[in-house]
Amino acid sequence: MNFQLSDQHRLVRDMARDFAAGEIAPHAEEMDRTKAFPKEILEKAKGLGLMGIVVPEEYGGAGMDFLSYIIILEEVGRVCASTCVVLSVHNTLFIGGLLKFATEAQKRAWLPRAAAGEILGAYLLTEPGAGSDAGSLKLRADRVAGGWRLTGSKSFITNGGVASHGIVYGRTDPEAGTRGISAFLIDMNTEGITRGAEEKKMGLNASSTVQVTFEDVFVPEENLLGEENRGFTVAMEILNAGRIGIAAQALGIAQAALDESLAYSAQREQFGTTINRFQSIQWFLSDMATEIEAARLLTYRAAVWYGEGRRIVKEAAMAKLFASAACMRAVDKAVQIHGGYGYTRDYKVERLFRDAKVTEIYEGTSEVQHIVIARALATGN
Ligand SMILES: Cc1cc2nc3c(=O)[nH]c(=O)nc-3n(C[C@H](O)[C@H](O)[C@H](O)COP(=O)(O)OP(=O)(O)OC[C@H]3O[C@@H](n4cnc5c(N)ncnc54)[C@H](O)[C@@H]3O)c2cc1C
Repeated sequence: MNFQLSDQHRLVRDMARDFAAGEIAPHAEEMDRTKAFPKEILEKAKGLGLMGIVVPEEYGGAGMDFLSYIIILEEVGRVCASTCVVLSVHNTLFIGGLLKFATEAQKRAWLPRAAAGEILGAYLLTEPGAGSDAGSLKLRADRVAGGWRLTGSKSFITNGGVASHGIVYGRTDPEAGTRGISAFLIDMNTEGITRGAEEKKMGLNASSTVQVTFEDVFVPEENLLGEENRGFTVAMEILNAGRIGIAAQALGIAQAALDESLAYSAQREQFGTTINRFQSIQWFLSDMATEIEAARLLTYRAAVWYGEGRRIVKEAAMAKLFASAACMRAVDKAVQIHGGYGYTRDYKVERLFRDAKVTEIYEGTSEVQHIVIARALATGN
């Protein structure tokens, strides 16, 4: 067992850290305030291969391993959680689905464009009536000559306002529960698709989150992803990897909270001394650092095992559950350490506090992660 990053992973981390510091950090506060999607940042990300991080080189990707990808998300999340989720949905929930379930013809048709950033992906699972219980989704996918016709709506779709393509889940057999769902690759500009207004969110202001409505949308035969009526498995398998990405995002936000708190507490003076001399502040800082290390170990282990092709359902759920909770505790302490200033928009911890919460909600709430872990414990797998 080796707890050091390899030279190659250190290089990846340094590259991502430089990119985040140079190209994202200077704009993060303004993007949060103006709710501006990070379009120019994604243009620059293309040049570093960040739109197809784990896509093999033969399909035009950067060909990095999954741990490299997770390290990149963590570094980006440390400066801008919005840019982090944009990259995460595109790279794991969209491209990850293609890598795992697409036919060779679909890979050749879609991956090079996705990896080049010519297309931006979304993942359309949640519906107004089907969140945690995604298997009860209702979007209809009716068989017609040459394909299917889709009718229904999807909610909270990240990248939804800007994505050019996506993976959508529809009901192909109304009687068969989770075994009556299929996954489809879609062009988001197909006739019949309408994107709603941007959700007014608590955080992740620079990311796009909209409702997407389908009205009699034709999807051709060749766009079925995976087997017909096996789309729920596609959705869940993609989410397993996605959860490691959200754990990395939480880790990045938590690390930023610690960075800010260390710096602030070393210069803020009260009672004639810097506040980091007070034991209560030291305990805050040491708890934050300890929990971040524990979250990092869980997250990196899940990433390495996923990269090795091992079954990581429990490990991914544990990483997300723990990292997101540790992140919430870290941002709470960070605001506390900043006192009244931490409650104002003048300090980064205020944004971190707002951005953190969603890591306990999307890609499976913490309650759902508990269910996943308990089920794995009970079945031994
Ligand atoms: C910013 C943002 C971006 C998102 N991006 C996407 C996206 O790109 N694509 C997509 O498909 N979805 C996306 N989502 C949706 C997200 O995955 C869902 O919000 C999430 O799965 C929870 O579903 P829900 O909101 O319907 O809550 P509900 O499922 O209604 O849950 C409400 C509460 O009940 C609890 N609960 C539900 N069932 C159980 C149970 N069996 N046991 C115990 N407690 C339970 C939940 O944990 C939660 O506390 C996004 C959401 C947000 C906020």
